[in-house]
Amino acid sequence: MNVLISSDDIQRRVREMAADIRRDHPDGVHLIAVLKGAFVFLSDLARALPGRCSFDFMAVSSYGKRSSSSGQVQLLKDLDAGIEGRDVVIVEDIVDTGLTLVCLQDILRARSPRSLRTACLLSRPSRRQIEVSVEYVGFTIEDKFVVGYGLDCAEQHRNLPYIAVLDDDPGAT
Ligand code: 5GP
Repeated sequence: MNVLISSDDIQRRVREMAADIRRDHPDGVHLIAVLKGAFVFLSDLARALPGRCSFDFMAVSSYGKRSSSSGQVQLLKDLDAGIEGRDVVIVEDIVDTGLTLVCLQDILRARSPRSLRTACLLSRPSRRQIEVSVEYVGFTIEDKFVVGYGLDCAEQHRNLPYIAVLDDDPGAT
């Protein structure tokens, strides 16, 4: 396993992203994290964000043991509360093909938030299949499957404090 982004670099960038989000949402923000991968990012981002802040969670089907997107997004857990009239930021671990995020944004936009923006810790633009707007991007990465800082491979490695590349890609078959 090779470290791609160190814990210190992540923490520094997350603080910058929190400052950008606060600047754009002076009246407070409702953060919607996409489970499970975004839970570590949300936790650090929220603690770096001063002022009014509330949370909710969604769960969607992920790659599981595969490393390629099916293009199908299944809603496994919906929000607890409505978002009408609220300033919402989706908190996502990584935008890869963009299919998951576009689908989520469509679902949430249909619920009439006052504003809807997206924060992704990682972006891999080389694999994008659909145009998607992400206002806050932590790091742009190359075409390697990554784990750590909430991201898993078959439910392992989420607890790593850094982002790493696995030596071989077990989901590639
Ligand atoms: P997309 O729909 O943009 O292709 O995929 C988004 C989702 O796929 C992410 O939220 C994440 O759960 C998963 N994913 C994409 N790339 C990676 C990766 O490199 N590592 C891990 N662990 N998950 C990934």
